[in-house]
Amino acid sequence: MDFSLTKEQLLLQRSVREFAVNEIEPIAGDIDEKGTLPDDLIKKMARINLTGMTLSSKYGGSGASNLDCILAIEQISYSGTGAWMLVAFTNSIPECIVRFGSAYQKDKYLKPVLEGEAYPSIQFTEAETGSDPDALSTTFLQDKDHYIISGTKRFSTFGARDGYAVIYAGGEKEDCTAFIAQKNVKGYSAGIPYELMGGGGIEAVDVYLDKLRLPKKNILGKKGKGFDILLHWIANEKIQQCGACVGIAQAALDEARAYAKARKVRGKPQAGLLNIRSMLADMYARLEAARWLTYQAAFLKDSSDPFWTTQAAAAKVFVVPTTMDVVEMSRRIHGAYGYTKDSKIERLYRAIAGASAIAVSLEINRSIVSAALIK
Ligand SMILES: Cc1cc2nc3c(=O)[nH]c(=O)nc-3n(C[C@H](O)[C@H](O)[C@H](O)COP(=O)(O)OP(=O)(O)OC[C@H]3O[C@@H](n4cnc5c(N)ncnc54)[C@H](O)[C@@H]3O)c2cc1C
Repeated sequence: MDFSLTKEQLLLQRSVREFAVNEIEPIAGDIDEKGTLPDDLIKKMARINLTGMTLSSKYGGSGASNLDCILAIEQISYSGTGAWMLVAFTNSIPECIVRFGSAYQKDKYLKPVLEGEAYPSIQFTEAETGSDPDALSTTFLQDKDHYIISGTKRFSTFGARDGYAVIYAGGEKEDCTAFIAQKNVKGYSAGIPYELMGGGGIEAVDVYLDKLRLPKKNILGKKGKGFDILLHWIANEKIQQCGACVGIAQAALDEARAYAKARKVRGKPQAGLLNIRSMLADMYARLEAARWLTYQAAFLKDSSDPFWTTQAAAAKVFVVPTTMDVVEMSRRIHGAYGYTKDSKIERLYRAIAGASAIAVSLEINRSIVSAALIK
């Protein structure tokens, strides 16, 4: 067993860190406040091969592993903004197209993401459901060799941006089916981004599908088999989200260390106090456990181990509350300053709260893990 990252992974980590420090950190407060990402960020990410990095060279990608992608997400999320979602979506959605899509779909939908010209989206959630394929109210109706999609999708990340979406719909008496659709065309419109508590830049919008007409060839995978694609994507999304939590918690630990060394209590650094040292030690130990569970889940996915989807759920069950604790401890070390908008910890605190709300609740992940254990 070897726990060390390769030379290439260390280099990747360093270069993405540099990118985040130069391109994201200086505008992180602004992204957080406005709730949107700068328009040119996706192009900048494409230039350093972050978009579609896990695609093989056959499709124009750099053949990076899922673990590499997690290392990149960790560095981008260090800012406490939602910019990491851009790395996550531009990798996880093209991966589904490679795995489940036709030659036509691979030809059409991969290159624009690699070049930073298309924002891919996933649209499953609706007002009445975030996880139940039988409860979908978005429908598709066949019209010769086309399908007509109607319904409203909720919280679609980057749903208003140009690019394409994988839309999940249920036919009348048909099972959940995934369609790929260009966004912002006739029959597709989007609202303005939800004002989120944190993680500014995730840009989640409602999407209105009004008789959106799609040719048959736009079905991703097989008709009626959409839920299998969603489960695959969502398991990957959980690992990516754990990577983001680790990045946010690392930033919280670094903020706490710096604060504790600079803050004076009776003329001496706060870092000399036993209770502060004890908190720092706890934060470090918890963060490392969360980090390595995340890496292990990514490693299992890279190894095509069939247990990887269960491990992704287990990682989420552990990593989300653990990293939230780390951020909370950092906030306490900051005293009253941690409760002000002047401190970065305040942004990190709000950013990490989103982790328990996106991509399947902790409770449902617990039931996924326990079902696998009992089987
Ligand atoms: C910032 C953001 C971005 C998002 N991006 C996207 C996106 O790009 N695409 C997309 O499709 N969705 C997206 N979502 C939606 C998100 O994935 C769902 O909101 C999430 O899966 C939870 O669904 P829900 O809100 O319906 O919660 P619910 O499913 O209603 O859950 C609420 C509570 O009820 C409990 N609960 C629900 N059902 C059960 C059950 N059967 N057994 C036990 N407990 C249960 C849950 O554990 C939880 O505690 C996004 C959400 C946010 C906040």
